[in-house]
Amino acid sequence: MILVLNSGSSSVKYQLIDVEGPTRAKGAKIERIGEPGSDVPDHEAALSRVAQAVATESAAITAIGHRVVHGGPRFSGPALITDDVIKQIEEAVPLAPLHNPANLAGIEWARRWRPDVPQVAVFDTAFHSTIPPAARTYAIDREVAELYDVRRYGFHGTSTAYVSRVAARLVGQPDTANVIVLHLGNGASASAVAAGRCVDTSMGMTPLEGLVMGTRSGDIDPAVIFVLIRAGMSPDQVEAMLFRRSGLLGLCGDNDMRAVIARVEAGDQDAVLAYNVYCHRLRKYIGAYCAVLGRVDVIAFTGGVGENSSLVRSTVLAGLQPLGIRLDPLRNVSARGTRIISTDDSAVSVAVVPTDEELEIALETSAVVARTKPQ
Ligand code: ADP
Repeated sequence: MILVLNSGSSSVKYQLIDVEGPTRAKGAKIERIGEPGSDVPDHEAALSRVAQAVATESAAITAIGHRVVHGGPRFSGPALITDDVIKQIEEAVPLAPLHNPANLAGIEWARRWRPDVPQVAVFDTAFHSTIPPAARTYAIDREVAELYDVRRYGFHGTSTAYVSRVAARLVGQPDTANVIVLHLGNGASASAVAAGRCVDTSMGMTPLEGLVMGTRSGDIDPAVIFVLIRAGMSPDQVEAMLFRRSGLLGLCGDNDMRAVIARVEAGDQDAVLAYNVYCHRLRKYIGAYCAVLGRVDVIAFTGGVGENSSLVRSTVLAGLQPLGIRLDPLRNVSARGTRIISTDDSAVSVAVVPTDEELEIALETSAVVARTKPQ
């Protein structure tokens, strides 16, 4: 049994997964770590709750898989955790100042708790390490870029790896399918995957770039930042605005897509603009990734919005018949779970694939452990 641990900045999630089934023995989310009034003062406290919760299964745990947000430039796949790997995750802290320290807290705790079982780091950035230089390089001064490791890394890699694989199998091309993955949750990203290898993704050096998200702006003209700083805002204020008070929230006051859609249906003009900006950006990336891939076999929707909102899916794909994309209106609204929602004669299949990052982490952890076992 693999214990999957996602020690995040304000919450700790865990799942116990038997990858043979696969079956899930148990799992939970411990939230509001360190917030005023919370009974979970810090990560140590949250993690010892995990230890208590899995006490009866503890002996059956054969490995622990950790979600790590940023692998920096070095990791191109999951890694068996050693002192050296920890050092490299520490070196990537400036690239993910909120997430990597929390991930490290989980790793350090788990190594003390169960020094007898192998621990594996699964990076959100790793699946994107195959993105070629033309797509990962920002056209800025090369020396500056190299000095500060400035380049596209991409995030949601674990989800994108899982969803692209399931979608490729679903269309009967497990090894050859070209897939556009649209991960639309609170954070949102689009990725282009060619025959199992990621070739482009919308998030960049940080998870701010790309699509419109719940509270993040996605793409803007970077010079907007200097205009705002010269107008008197501090860099911290601009950063907080772009990460936490932009996106759907910034445009209409709601970051939850369900609330935005309810307001759209009631004719609220701010919500209509927010919805249209969100969908327009998404269409632009679909068009861009059709061009990047040349041939697209399947477009896969995932994440809370992608899995549940037939309205977003139909708005985004409306009018794309010239690109070979034909949504079946009935399939789009009726079924649930992993499924095709395009017409039988659509040149490009459209699929809904519920993501499962925990299962993917468990599978990758188990593969690393099998690989590194002494013969
Ligand atoms: P996270 O990125 O935090 O894992 P999720 O993938 O669960 O989050 O996505 C959360 C988003 O999914 C929220 O914006 C929520 O409004 C949206 N969502 C969930 N169900 C629906 C639905 N039926 N229609 C539209 N949006 C939905």
